[in-house]
Amino acid sequence: MHGLYGALSAARRIRVRGQVQGVGFRPFIWQLAKARGLRGDVCNDAEGVLIHVTGADLDGFEAAIVTEAPSLARVDAVESAAFRFDSSPDRFEIAGSGARGAETRVTPDAATCADCVADISGADPRRAGYAFTNCTHCGPRFTILRHLPYDRAQTSMAEFEMCEDCAAEYADPADRRFHAQPVACANCGPRLWFEVDGAEVSGDPIRLAAEHLDAGQILAIKGLGGFHLACDATDPEAVALLRTRKRRPGKPFALMGTLPHISAYGTPTDAELSLLSDPAAPIVLIAPGGNNLPDALAPGQARLGWMLPYTPLHHLLLAVVDRPLVMTSGNLSGEPQMIDNGEARDKLSGIVDAWLMHDRDIVRRLDDSVERATGLGPMVLRRARGRVPGTLPLPAGFEDAPQTTAYGAHLKSAICLLKNGQALLSHHLGDLDDALTWDEFRRADADYAELFDHDPELFACDLHPGYRSSQHAAARAGEAPLVEAQHHHAHLAACMGENGWGLEDGPVAGIILDGLGLGSDGTIWGGELLLGDYRRAERTAHLPVAPLIGGDAAQREPWRNLLVRLDQAGLSTMADARLADHPLELARQAATAGVNAPLSSSAGRLFDAFAAALGLCVAGQSYEGEAAMQLEALALAAPDALSDPYPFGPGLDPAQLFQAWALDAAAGIPAEVMAARFHAGLAAAFCAPARTLVESGEARAVALSGGCFQNATLLELCCRELDGLPVLIHSVAPANDGGLALGQALIAAAIHLR
Ligand code: ZN
Ligand code: ZN
Ligand code: FE
Repeated sequence: MHGLYGALSAARRIRVRGQVQGVGFRPFIWQLAKARGLRGDVCNDAEGVLIHVTGADLDGFEAAIVTEAPSLARVDAVESAAFRFDSSPDRFEIAGSGARGAETRVTPDAATCADCVADISGADPRRAGYAFTNCTHCGPRFTILRHLPYDRAQTSMAEFEMCEDCAAEYADPADRRFHAQPVACANCGPRLWFEVDGAEVSGDPIRLAAEHLDAGQILAIKGLGGFHLACDATDPEAVALLRTRKRRPGKPFALMGTLPHISAYGTPTDAELSLLSDPAAPIVLIAPGGNNLPDALAPGQARLGWMLPYTPLHHLLLAVVDRPLVMTSGNLSGEPQMIDNGEARDKLSGIVDAWLMHDRDIVRRLDDSVERATGLGPMVLRRARGRVPGTLPLPAGFEDAPQTTAYGAHLKSAICLLKNGQALLSHHLGDLDDALTWDEFRRADADYAELFDHDPELFACDLHPGYRSSQHAAARAGEAPLVEAQHHHAHLAACMGENGWGLEDGPVAGIILDGLGLGSDGTIWGGELLLGDYRRAERTAHLPVAPLIGGDAAQREPWRNLLVRLDQAGLSTMADARLADHPLELARQAATAGVNAPLSSSAGRLFDAFAAALGLCVAGQSYEGEAAMQLEALALAAPDALSDPYPFGPGLDPAQLFQAWALDAAAGIPAEVMAARFHAGLAAAFCAPARTLVESGEARAVALSGGCFQNATLLELCCRELDGLPVLIHSVAPANDGGLALGQALIAAAIHLR
């Protein structure tokens, strides 16, 4: 920097890229510059934040931009060049946003920051006890946004006029609430009330809510991205009542508690604590410990899903209740979460006893994100509040990727947009068989396109013509070309993409262990070893196929999968004895005749079969993945047996595994040990040929994807088996079908970039 302009008039033009708008970046720069006695200006423009600065130690200033950035910012790049001011500035100022395209991007919603918690606890008299306190470092963003650019008039805060005090904070660059769009206080902002049978109850709404929770009642609580159903998580009767009223027999309920609560009822690891405390405040799966909670919260599961209070309302409520609460989505089974006061009154009236309501509209429905800390880092199981609309940079080679929209899967649907070298993977939308979710899916398609000024030049979807997402894509295919991506190839591509695997970085071996996906040969796949890149993939090995007897029924009823695997292993007598309660003859006839018994290599169904072998969910599962989750929970109880794999035969044949299990079962080996040996066997069976592909030079890395890799035990076992090789795993895009759209988009773009 001592070139052309020299030390005499050191001035720089500094460009900051990343998530740097709407997160308090300009006031941060302003404060940093003032503290260092620098002069110049800072503004937002279409590329990020732009700084012109002069003064001493500009290197130190640049370094501080990265190391001291606001908590919600993500700095991807700081680029600086010499600059010459027309006239030397006499101070540092925040310039108006550049005229052209200076759209302020919107960041994800963020949990209440420590300063705001202090404010509601009394540090700020205008905000003591105020449930809608926020600042530049925290608060609602995406869930209140109607249109871009992100400023107050375009959010559901528009109807609340700032009082003089709030307006002064909003205008003061030295204030923590400078340009915080949802800024509010008790004098001017949204209002909270407690309601029973459509009538407001007078009194402190937080106290009233706490009293009703204490009395074992069920509440609807309006939150950030939707309503929650809440009850006292320590009260078995309240939990049972909620299960009955919501008609949700077994699916785990999420819990909300403070750090002391979580530590009193669970044993969070350091990694889990840091994930809990992330500004996204996801639900984190944590092992129990210490005090007991009712089994009915998560029957048969080794972990409970916990989240910290993430709005001032939650903080205020938990401070009074002072015990963990169930906080599950406020919806009817299978439908999207409710966001509208009237709709919630209507539809939740049969479930809840009272409502904790407010008058700030929820514009965008966002479920709580669900995440898990593994030995290999965090993983996202459900990507939603706090994570969207975050973007991922595309790998090298995709710089010129066309604007692409990919429509994802069917049950865990989510869409993905590519534009300007970034991928935007939408929030979790859910099961498209549900009519309201299907409406929401189509709305999301239009909505994301509008928000991000996205004009698709290319569409992508799954190969399966029965997915509603594929049908939606086909209906739009007149507007732009459509690429149908094979399901497991898309899982592989999603994993490569989020790991930054470049377009020309060469082939990868993909161990794809999944539920069901249509294969390129017309059969149903799901336990595959693929070899390929973004453009193409071949199937080099797979689990031997087994009939899905009864089609969809085979998904719900694990005994059907056990029957076929035992018959294939020559263990029919054992099947007769163990499954005597089920219509075996009819089932076998259907399998033999191939009537409503499509062939599948699904690893998910192999998990179901083995779970049933251990007596788990034999007759049926009450939600997708229940049997497999219980099987993992069992395996965790026998860690030593994780190094004693069951054998697989040549061609990944699980017959030997079932034969070895039959001997163990006859010898009275504990179920935990058998569950662990199953996990180890599956990992060893797939990792051996994957290792060969890398060692022979045919593949340059191994990617692990598909819904079964939500199982951290399986993931860790595979990584151990693949030790010494480059291994790609998921961390920000779900390994399940929630990440599929990212892979589809990359495949479509790669084919078009050829
Ligand atoms: Zn704050
Ligand atoms: Zn105010
Ligand atoms: Fe899948």
